[in-house]
Amino acid sequence: MTVTSRADCVELDDRDPLAAVRTRFELSPDLIYLDGNSLGPLPSGTAARMTEVIQAQWGQDLIRSWNDAGWFDKPLTVGDRLAPLVGAGPGEVVVCDSTSVNLFKAFTAALELRPGRSVVISETRIFPTDLYMLQGAMEFLGGYRRELIGEGVSLEDLLSDEVAVVVLSHVDYVTGRVHDMRAVTELIHRHGALVIWDLCHSVGALPIALNDCEVDFAVGCTYKYLNGGPGAPAFVFVSRQHQPDAVQPLSGWHGHAAPFAFDADYQPAAGVARFRVGTPLVLSYVPLEVSLDLWDQIDLSEVRTKNQRLTDLFIDLVERDCADLGLQLASPRSAAERGSQVALRHEASYQVVQALIARGVIGDFRAPDVMRFGFPATYVKYADVWDAVQILRDVLITGQWRDARFAVRSTVT
Ligand SMILES: *Cc1c(COP(=O)(O)O)cnc(C)c1O
Repeated sequence: MTVTSRADCVELDDRDPLAAVRTRFELSPDLIYLDGNSLGPLPSGTAARMTEVIQAQWGQDLIRSWNDAGWFDKPLTVGDRLAPLVGAGPGEVVVCDSTSVNLFKAFTAALELRPGRSVVISETRIFPTDLYMLQGAMEFLGGYRRELIGEGVSLEDLLSDEVAVVVLSHVDYVTGRVHDMRAVTELIHRHGALVIWDLCHSVGALPIALNDCEVDFAVGCTYKYLNGGPGAPAFVFVSRQHQPDAVQPLSGWHGHAAPFAFDADYQPAAGVARFRVGTPLVLSYVPLEVSLDLWDQIDLSEVRTKNQRLTDLFIDLVERDCADLGLQLASPRSAAERGSQVALRHEASYQVVQALIARGVIGDFRAPDVMRFGFPATYVKYADVWDAVQILRDVLITGQWRDARFAVRSTVT
């Protein structure tokens, strides 16, 4: 339907098949939270579950919980629970460490699988930690050269039989641009290279088919669309096909074949378990498991349909109500090419975002000049989109953003 009023939005919310999911989050009704792509909101029941685990498993059962409460195997059991969300099978995903550390493990393992090839390809605009981790690993190993996709340089331009590994972000963290995972993976494989997909901005935002697309490795975090909470462990996917030969150099005891044999020599565990390193941060798995209980009931194709409608509506309304107010769309116009977020440019994006936050509309700023709004379909309402655009228009028309307090930069933007 064509939306021409707030009442139309309310009607869409009433008919929303995901409406019941929204009630499962603890979200203040006064807040329009468009930053779930950076830190997902809190699922109800998390605090109670956390208290229970602390009091019963830690407080009473103590060290017995490593066995009895399954603490030791959390990276694998939670990995199996997460696997369906990325189109992976059991035994292909391990949940542990941060995305950065998991990328290091996947990257070094992938390089070892392509001996004699010395070129690594990534993207100029990929989330910087990915570039930093590649740089660190390459300097440490020596003998590798980096090529970057960017302005006027495509993947096709860079691929050759010297390329070992290509690291790409499925959904761009700034613009929301989506890569065609199947076509790009196929192209990379035609040149004999391996691919690592960073799924931070796609897991929980759109259906992902890692095995169906014959992906080699993938990494991602769980605190954005998956609502795992601050400090939630990340994940790494290693295709079953590569598991016998893929070894990673962070050879800690939890990735050992027999951690409690206390041998002097490292023997990697079979399967994806060798991508574990040390003791899992047990308490950080608790909120993620509460969230995965919720995700078990969510249909990702419904999520995708709704977030495309929400982002389309946001862009339509911005174009209609904020025309000539100095905004520029920095995301693809076509919903099929866009993840679950919209980026806008303005000469004073930082100040505008701060002014919006003061009015209860939370988005974020990404240097140098972008304001970013996430529309997780699990809890954002069509009426929120309407209200957010009206407030944005008001902030721009009145010049509220010019207030000096909105120019003060915090550490986290
Ligand atoms: C959020 C994000 C990360 C975060 O990495 P951490 O190591 O978990 O801090 C990495 N890559 C991308 C693309 C991201 O969006």
